[in-house]
Amino acid sequence: MAAPDIHRFACTRCGACCNRAPEVALSEAAALADHFVFRLMVSLYWLPDRPVPGQNADGGFYERKRLLADFAARASPTKAFRDGKRVPYTKYLVFSALAADTRAGHCVALMDGGCAIYPQRPLACRTVPLHYSRGDHSAASDLAAFVASPGYRCDTSDTAPVLIDNGRIVDEPVATARHQARQVALNDRRWSTAIARQVGNPAAADLALPTIAELQASAGAGAMTTTMAPAWRVAVDIGLMTPGDYQALLARQLALLGREIATADCPPTTRETLLAMHTEYQRLRENR
Ligand code: SF4
Ligand code: SF4
Repeated sequence: MAAPDIHRFACTRCGACCNRAPEVALSEAAALADHFVFRLMVSLYWLPDRPVPGQNADGGFYERKRLLADFAARASPTKAFRDGKRVPYTKYLVFSALAADTRAGHCVALMDGGCAIYPQRPLACRTVPLHYSRGDHSAASDLAAFVASPGYRCDTSDTAPVLIDNGRIVDEPVATARHQARQVALNDRRWSTAIARQVGNPAAADLALPTIAELQASAGAGAMTTTMAPAWRVAVDIGLMTPGDYQALLARQLALLGREIATADCPPTTRETLLAMHTEYQRLRENR
């Protein structure tokens, strides 16, 4: 009989993995708008419709496709050249809210070595050491890579609780947070689909969303970000937010932007981004 494949983990709250600002779901951003300056992140992923030769086809590939389909606002069929042949791919357009990195090397909510918003922390933080956008198939290798990160003081000793048991994530808070993250993405689908409809729409040029061509051109550099204003304006258009909610969000982000611009320990390019956001949100407040 094969030995059980058990992986243990406990967080000692050393704070070492709070080394950057978190990425959250669109609808998580409103509740956290007093803590983080959010940017709308637009990501484009390409996946072949079938595993390419040499790619892991043991179910991990299909789990990745299912997860992307759950988190994507739009999945469009396309073709790409592989070994000189045009083969079917799917393009997934994903929207999320990325907190601006306004502190050098750590999340803005990390204070005195601990999370200052622990009960309110984003779902991405609740699923640590795994990420909810990654499948169960890679959980054991993801855990191994995470705990091996320099400076991380996670407890993986024999006394730590079991996180993964024979490929199943059994830690209840982590499993629940992963389930909630997928649920939030599905609940946000109407919103994200409405934003996706404005991508490349000449009538919505004032929303300043990146086009698919721009996203493709930036594929090597990762996703593109813009202010949250387009997402919140679309939310008003489809009745998910009132104009008053939208203005209140702008006001909360403006107050935080003012504090961050005055105190943030960030590179000049980030400061320029914060200043540009401040100018834009002030204009949107004045034009109401
Ligand atoms: S929100 Fe809290 S738990 Fe999440 S990265 Fe920031 S400090 Fe860490
Ligand atoms: S590095 Fe490990 S122990 Fe430290 S806060 Fe992150 S999960 Fe917890």
